[in-house]
Amino acid sequence: MPESQLSFDNPVDRYPKVRPPEKQVEEPGRDSELDPPADHGETSYVGSGRLSGRKAVVTGGDSGIGAAAAIAFAREGADVAIVYLPAEEEDAQHVAGLIRDAGRTAVTIAGDISDRAFCDEVVARALDGLGGIDILVNNAGKQIYCKDLTELPDDQFDLTMKTNVYAMFWLTKAALPHLAAGATTINTTSVQAYLPGEVLVDYATTKAAINAFTKALAGQLAPKGIRVNAVAPGPIWTPLQPSAGQPPEKLPDFGSQTAIGRAGQPAELAPAYVFLASPESSYVIGETLAVTGGMPTP
Ligand code: NAD
Ligand code: MG
Repeated sequence: MPESQLSFDNPVDRYPKVRPPEKQVEEPGRDSELDPPADHGETSYVGSGRLSGRKAVVTGGDSGIGAAAAIAFAREGADVAIVYLPAEEEDAQHVAGLIRDAGRTAVTIAGDISDRAFCDEVVARALDGLGGIDILVNNAGKQIYCKDLTELPDDQFDLTMKTNVYAMFWLTKAALPHLAAGATTINTTSVQAYLPGEVLVDYATTKAAINAFTKALAGQLAPKGIRVNAVAPGPIWTPLQPSAGQPPEKLPDFGSQTAIGRAGQPAELAPAYVFLASPESSYVIGETLAVTGGMPTP
């Protein structure tokens, strides 16, 4: 078995501080264009059969945190369907290639999850391509900063709600009849649920909603043996940030407010998703696992 290239060195220095230029790219950003590039565990994540034979759906699995989770899931033995916007085909094909390199099946599903009918289609195509669903990761998200509520367009508010909250509801509802005991769903929330930024009113609102949805549904599904949990990332270097996720002038200092003093990399999130998806976490239910570089959460 290949050895992990991770070392036990100081986590502060595991990655350099990112100092992105004050440059805004068009939404959705691409991993392939991220400056500096991010780490998704391509050369470091080593699986140990923790998800052997499982079938996973990861929304936003083309890039960032979702890509890191998808790569780790495949190396842990899972077949993976990734869902993404059509503009992200290049990133998606790259991640699908890494899933196949791990010897697993990759299914690529391009479309817009803010459309209810597409969410039903995602579940149907994942069932078709994977032969079942055991793990659903609702990770896709929309984050567009706005400094003044009076200038926050209604359609942006609506689309942020649809993408971050409604799609989670629609996808979970469609998948549920196909989930057996032992299945898990994992929702990506954010430290923004607890420490909402003044320029992210709509986004932060969705992240608090995701936490409540997670805990309520966890109680409903636990007796059936289906576990629902969430991961709350802190500032992670992904295409979401330079594609209007932050005011550009904030980018050079991105992540410096954390206790560890740097932004996280997507690779540092993957183990949280693997843990919550694996049967090792059988008694972890309705939990929001914070991966925030030390930013305090309740
Ligand atoms: P990312 O841009 O790599 O991933 C977001 C993905 O969402 C995109 O790749 C895209 O495929 C998908 N998406 C957005 N709108 C969609 C739509 N309408 N239909 C289909 N797919 C759509 O960035 P990321 O930071 O890895 O984001 C993943 C999740 O992590 C998001 O939920 C985000 O809110 C959350 N998060 C990120 C950070 C951070 O600092 N990067 C912090 C906390 C939470
Ligand atoms: Mg993307």
